[in-house]
Amino acid sequence: MPDDQMRHIETLAVHADHTPDGQTGAVMPPLHLATTFERATDETYPGGFSYIRSGNPTRAALERMLAALEGGVAALAFASGMAATTAIFQALDPGDHVIAPLDAYYGTTVQLREMFMRWGLGISFVDMPDLAAVQAAVQPNTRLIWVETPSNPLLRITDIAAVAHIAHEAGARCACDNTWATPVLQRPLALGADLVMHSTTKYLGGHSDVLGGAVIARTDDAFTQRLRDIQAHGGAVPSPFDCWLVLRGIRTLPYRMRGHCDNAERIAAFLADHPAVEVVHYPGLAGQPGHQIAAHQMARPGGMLSFQVRGDAEAALAVTRRLHLFTRATSLGGPESLIEHRASVEGPTTHTPANLLRISAGLEHPDDLIADLAQALA
Ligand SMILES: *Cc1c(COP(=O)(O)O)cnc(C)c1O
Repeated sequence: MPDDQMRHIETLAVHADHTPDGQTGAVMPPLHLATTFERATDETYPGGFSYIRSGNPTRAALERMLAALEGGVAALAFASGMAATTAIFQALDPGDHVIAPLDAYYGTTVQLREMFMRWGLGISFVDMPDLAAVQAAVQPNTRLIWVETPSNPLLRITDIAAVAHIAHEAGARCACDNTWATPVLQRPLALGADLVMHSTTKYLGGHSDVLGGAVIARTDDAFTQRLRDIQAHGGAVPSPFDCWLVLRGIRTLPYRMRGHCDNAERIAAFLADHPAVEVVHYPGLAGQPGHQIAAHQMARPGGMLSFQVRGDAEAALAVTRRLHLFTRATSLGGPESLIEHRASVEGPTTHTPANLLRISAGLEHPDDLIADLAQALA
């Protein structure tokens, strides 16, 4: 579809992988499990595929879809979000410097500290929404600025265009973890970012039943080629079935996001007025830090929020035990509402407030969710 850029995201989510299948007319893409593909007599591969790890038709369909949704020229699917993140940092050279956010997905922070400091990357953790702090952290060897917005678990908002500008002035790339916003709500490449990373385990898969990750690139340059090499030779690739499940999830992504956003907005408004709640972190609430930037760079404020219960960790945990509809579990982006006490998950090194609970608003009826929260907070 050469005019992908001009289509609405609902249309792309249904068509951008170019179904129906030319051979059979099947309206949904077939699941190709073959590990190897026949060579022609001149030793070329007429179908463009040679071996499953380097590429296969089901993964290629998912990658076409992801590139179209994010408005990139290339997309690479990985076995998990963390494998996608690993690929981006591995594409840098030892000795390069990275600027990363203080508030971010905990696994990203741990990966940088545990794996990539030992691998020779210099890393500065900064308060990413504070542009002066980002600028001050730039070094002559800075090659990448990592943005996550909204961030986990405090829903901090970073101005993607402004950070991309700082990165480019410094001769560095800007990568954005777009897992929480999804391309339905936020398009980092259009705002100037060079790379988008996803955990497709979350909203893109959308049904809490598949693990996956992806990197989408704005230009097809030497860095993108390195990412391709890491994907093929590092081998952290998703199975065809996992690709098929993510692609299946994406078909309904734009409509699911409407429900997630409707429910999160209702829940945030309810909690913000509740006497047992100290503070709500949700970019959709007026007066929040980052509210104006979110209103400008996001179509809607998203399906994730967190809040602090008046009292200590025990008071917060007690609320989770009284809930019936919210499952106490990690992760996000599925049809079921989830609640999590992040400080318990993150352990003693966490910066997360002890009384904070994070909610992934599911697709249940908002009145039922609010009634459940009302009885648990009473
Ligand atoms: C879940 C998540 C990841 C990690 O993805 P996995 O698929 O679990 O490896 C990275 N970033 C964010 C924001 C996430 O929510």
